[in-house]
Amino acid sequence: MRRWMKFAAWREVPEGRWADWRWQVENSICRADALAELLPLSEDERKAIAEVSKVYPMRITPHYLSLVEDLHDPSDPVRLQAVPLPEELDPVGEEDPLDETMDSPVPGLTHRYPDRVLLVTTNFCPTYCRHCTRKRIWCRWEEPDLGEWFRYIRAHPEVRDVLVSGGSPLCLPLAKLEEILKGICEIPHVEVVRLGAREPATLPQRFSDPELLEVLERYSRKLWMVVHFNHPREVTPEAKEAVWKVLRLGIPVLSQTVLLRNVNDSPGIMRELMRRLLAVKVKPYYILHGDPVKGTMHFRTSLGRGNEVMEGLRGHISGLGVPHYMVDLPYGAGKVPVGPNYLLTSGEKMAVFRNYEGLLVAYPLDGKGDEDESQGVSKLLSSGGALVPDGVPRLGRRR
Ligand SMILES: *Cc1c(COP(=O)(O)O)cnc(C)c1O
Repeated sequence: MRRWMKFAAWREVPEGRWADWRWQVENSICRADALAELLPLSEDERKAIAEVSKVYPMRITPHYLSLVEDLHDPSDPVRLQAVPLPEELDPVGEEDPLDETMDSPVPGLTHRYPDRVLLVTTNFCPTYCRHCTRKRIWCRWEEPDLGEWFRYIRAHPEVRDVLVSGGSPLCLPLAKLEEILKGICEIPHVEVVRLGAREPATLPQRFSDPELLEVLERYSRKLWMVVHFNHPREVTPEAKEAVWKVLRLGIPVLSQTVLLRNVNDSPGIMRELMRRLLAVKVKPYYILHGDPVKGTMHFRTSLGRGNEVMEGLRGHISGLGVPHYMVDLPYGAGKVPVGPNYLLTSGEKMAVFRNYEGLLVAYPLDGKGDEDESQGVSKLLSSGGALVPDGVPRLGRRR
């Protein structure tokens, strides 16, 4: 049975229509009444969705909704990311906690770091993620002046890396996407152009449009794609196909994941997500701690939870699958890595590290230290060696 056939309303949709990205966009769910025909909603839930979507609109592709597993479960991790909740109307948080607008020399362009700029190209997305960090632009949007962007970047030879973000640039009219990519790629000092895309998760059908692939191919010399996956279930066979089409153009594909309460704030789920991403040749780049954005505060977790997730990755899966865990700071201070520490302490003669197994091991340095009759970590610092916990499977494999 096809995934979408669990919805009575779509049972008759033939494969060819389902695979058509235009059908997916045209049949996206934007109204509470339409959603109520697909998911069993209580009257209260339906009303709440209608209320919240007046402030923060709803838009869900049929593809993305079909990733909901248990239609009766209000805490399904896919549903939580796409279906509005009353918590979004809590007045806590800020509209623009990272001060993107303040670090913006021309509208829609944020120049925060020395050598790279971020462009917000559109406020449209095929599925509006409830945790979106740019919720402020959903209903307040001014068309950017592309010429102004190009002039700014040309006038700043230090800019080597341009992030083309949104919203969803891949859903722009193709002529506009081409105008943007051409304008940027023609600037000689721009070496890297990153396209942000959530489509492999929400609308993988987009990549079966040969005209889109032709546009991407024309600029593939400079292009990278940064996709956004939050849950292992989003890594579908369709997503795999979409990613492969992009990779074949010579465009590397990286992924960013937002740490989200009740969606992926668990070591097991995150490990599974990272494994699946590697299996489709996507390199996990960042896990982003939730920004304190108004309307998304119910998704935030503690830094401690994030560290627990990282403990479940480092050492346990291929290093290729371990992203950096990042916090984006207020005052436009930018992203900094957080995460567990592995260097416990150090002296003149030895440093003491711990590894993912909890083994403490001395690492020799060039300095001089005392021989000392101490014990524990102090002994490791003076005499080297290791403190080995019980029951390490690796040691059981040793000859
Ligand atoms: C995240 C971000 C970037 C890119 O940062 P990297 O660490 O290079 O991925 C650039 N500009 C802004 C404003 C950002 O928020």
